[in-house]
Parts: sequence; C-alpha cells; structure tokens
Amino acid sequence: MDRRIKLGYWVIEWSKKGCYRIYGHSSIQTQFPVRFSIGLCILTHSICCGFCELGLNNINRPMIVLAFDRDWTVDVNPHPRREAVPLEYVKYWAEETEHEVWATGNQLLVEEAEIPGTIESVRRLKGTIEPFGEKDERGRYENWPERETRLKILEKLFPDADQYIVVDDLDLKHVENWDHYYAWTFMENLRDGTLDIEVTTTLESE
Ligand SMILES: [Mg+2]
Repeated sequence: MDRRIKLGYWVIEWSKKGCYRIYGHSSIQTQFPVRFSIGLCILTHSICCGFCELGLNNINRPMIVLAFDRDWTVDVNPHPRREAVPLEYVKYWAEETEHEVWATGNQLLVEEAEIPGTIESVRRLKGTIEPFGEKDERGRYENWPERETRLKILEKLFPDADQYIVVDDLDLKHVENWDHYYAWTFMENLRDGTLDIEVTTTLESE
C-alpha cells in the first residue's frame, strides 16, 4: 500500500482522487489531549493535500491497463472450484486509482462494475461504432472483435501505460505486450505482492 504513510502512531491514507483519511493505529493516541490531535490532523491534512495537489503521490506508481473478462473470472460468475476476482476490487481500481479498467469479455461486466467495455473502446479509437456492423435479433453485433483484438484496441488507446494485464479464464499468454492471468493466479499474485496493484485496507480486511 504505497498511498499510506505512517507518522508515529498516525496513519494517513489518500486516494488519487483526493480523498484521504487519518487515523491512529495505536492506543497511545488516546493519551494525548484532543487539541493536540486536532492540530496534528490539520497539519497532516495540509501535507496530504499538498502532496495530492503536486501529484507527488503518483511518482513511481505504474499505470496499468487492467482488462477483465467476466465469466469464471469475476465473482459475479466465478469458476466453480477456483478463486475469482471480487467485483468490489474491479470497482475500486476503476474508481479510486489511475489504472485503466476495462471489460473485455462478457459485456455484462460493463454495468456490473461500472467500467467501459469493448464498444466504448472502439468508439474512442475510431470515433464511431460503425465497425461493429448491424445488431442481430439477439442483440449481437455482426463484427464483434476477437479477444486479442479487443486487447490491442486498448493498447492503442493507452500507448503510454506501464503494463497491460488481462485477467481471463481463456489463455491469452500469446498476446504480445500483455500479461495474462487466470483469476486465481491473479489473486495469488496480488496477495503475495508479485503484482504491484494497490488494494485498500477495507478490501484487505474483507
Ligand atoms: Mg470467461
């Protein structure tokens, strides 16, 4: 968690979108007068806001394009015997971090996680969704791009990203420039710190 700093027994956390919270992590804090605590809060508040203003909290943090499949990947439809990525994690990265979070599998995830998906990626890249062609009676487009193409579109949209990660129960290791994970390996790597993606304390404690 690189958006958390400890000042003595105080812990200060802040999000890239400007939210912050300050709390004591030790019972020692109760021994100090309230006025002192408030003073310290105001001071740390100013420091935090300063950091956010200057964008200092973004230094050295990689921007990752995270592409999520839905079925057998996110916990709205998990693999029957394997770990899935909690929907709340996907939402958190989309809302609270600078990473780009996209739905590249079943597009139901667009609404569920409130993230953009394949249609939006083409709209942004081409300025139109004409390449999809007509919709059939089941609501399916004539020219829905292959999974690999969906990833390549995102790569073109975010050429400066530090890393491209796709989480999918289909093997996509062959896609150049992309790191493929199954949901269960993704979660393992997240836990053991191999993957440098921030997780909030709220999510960690769940
Ligand atoms: Mg799937």
